[in-house]
Amino acid sequence: MAKVNLTIDGQSVDVEEGTNLIEAARQIGVEVPHYCYHPGLKIDGNCRMCLVDIEKSPKPQIACNTKVAPGMVVHTQTDKVKKMRASVMEFLLINHPLDCPTCDQAGECRLQDYYMKYDRIPSRFEETKVHKDKMIDLGSSVMLDQERCIACTRCIRFCRDVAGQDELALANRGDHVTITTFPGKKLSNPYAGNVVDICPVGALTSDEFRFKKRVWYLKRTPSVCTGCSRGCNIEVHHEGNKIYRLIPRYNPNVNQYWMCDEGRHGYHFVNDNRVLRAQIIKNGAMQEVSFAEAAAYLASQLKTMNSSEIATISHAGETNEVLKAFDEFSKNVLKTDLRYYSRNEVKNPSSDTILRTADKNPNQAYINDLKLKPVSEIKNAQAALVLNGLSEADFEILKKKNIPILAIFAANVGDALPHASVVCPIPTFAEQDGHLTNVNAVVQKISQAFAPRGESRLVGEWLDAITLALGMSAKKAEAVSVF
Ligand code: SF4
Ligand code: SF4
Repeated sequence: MAKVNLTIDGQSVDVEEGTNLIEAARQIGVEVPHYCYHPGLKIDGNCRMCLVDIEKSPKPQIACNTKVAPGMVVHTQTDKVKKMRASVMEFLLINHPLDCPTCDQAGECRLQDYYMKYDRIPSRFEETKVHKDKMIDLGSSVMLDQERCIACTRCIRFCRDVAGQDELALANRGDHVTITTFPGKKLSNPYAGNVVDICPVGALTSDEFRFKKRVWYLKRTPSVCTGCSRGCNIEVHHEGNKIYRLIPRYNPNVNQYWMCDEGRHGYHFVNDNRVLRAQIIKNGAMQEVSFAEAAAYLASQLKTMNSSEIATISHAGETNEVLKAFDEFSKNVLKTDLRYYSRNEVKNPSSDTILRTADKNPNQAYINDLKLKPVSEIKNAQAALVLNGLSEADFEILKKKNIPILAIFAANVGDALPHASVVCPIPTFAEQDGHLTNVNAVVQKISQAFAPRGESRLVGEWLDAITLALGMSAKKAEAVSVF
């Protein structure tokens, strides 16, 4: 696309034709404050916070809806511009309830941030503020506080233009304006949680996150959603080895600015229901043991078996690195050709043309690359080594074929666990680095947010310890440098 040269605050800049002034300024590190503008939404131009001076223009212009033009000279810091920003802030804050001490948006609220940057004028308002309803359950886990809303319409535009469901609207006028769903209807689109992320103030909050954690305590780790094969880019927000929320991370090639609610709320398996200690069958009952004892016990069991009759069952939810290490262990250490995989099977899976795919496995693509067979094709084996759980159907197949589970590498408690002779706790996606290959063959990185829970160990560590206990030399399976 052709480039346009213009001047912003005295700096010459070349930007693509069609760029608006907020984005053009951003490219040279100049922030033009805004509420209603969002790069992923259609432009509305209602908040007036982004007014800038343009030479030869008789009056200030909104930067969000003004495209760059050759030779344009823009000023974002003139006295007139600063006075306009302060006036917009004063206007927005007239009826604002100033709930900051209890508001979940505190710490990432544009009213707070811009007040400190552009306003800092004591309130001149002496009348009684307009009071509106608080704690309205809009649906989809989204709570509305009408008093905090600044009527920027971001949420309305998101539902209408991105989620494709026209569920929200403005009602009333002037200082009684509020957003609302249509009478008798709830917010129910599968992407509704995004309105919480894009609300620039604390009017829309997540029922799941409200009052759980002040945001400045949260650490943010870039990662990828494991809820389906789309692999939306996300940030994991966590503290003290616990996830408090997932929010989308911009990737123009995968998910733009968004994620679905299934993925957003699908992190509880990291916090709850975890396998924290290794277990082995001893005297007919499961007993907790150390990592070393479990690895040695598993190796001693493997030594008694015909290795070519041991089946290994990978899982379409693990990373490329883990799958490769498990597969190499199967081929090179166990020397078995009985290499299968299990996958999360969902009845009537949700899917659409926005992001959600019907395949709820984040890494089926890499399983396909490894050319593993589904468990339904398993015939006979002495025993099975299972990576990260079995689907219900696959568990039934093993039971029917009388194939005992020798070991299961598991992050969460599941139906198959009590049937395994050895349980090896492993980390979830939030506790390890690695890569996942999405439905379009895009290889994406996940990063460790916090250390593995309890005494869980990386799959590679387990495989190395078992290999050593079998009297073979281990070659740091986790460090396979193929990506
Ligand atoms: S609820 Fe938030 S996003 Fe929606 S109009 Fe009000 S301030 Fe804007
Ligand atoms: S579309 Fe799939 S990958 Fe994206 S957020 Fe939803 S579940 Fe996660």
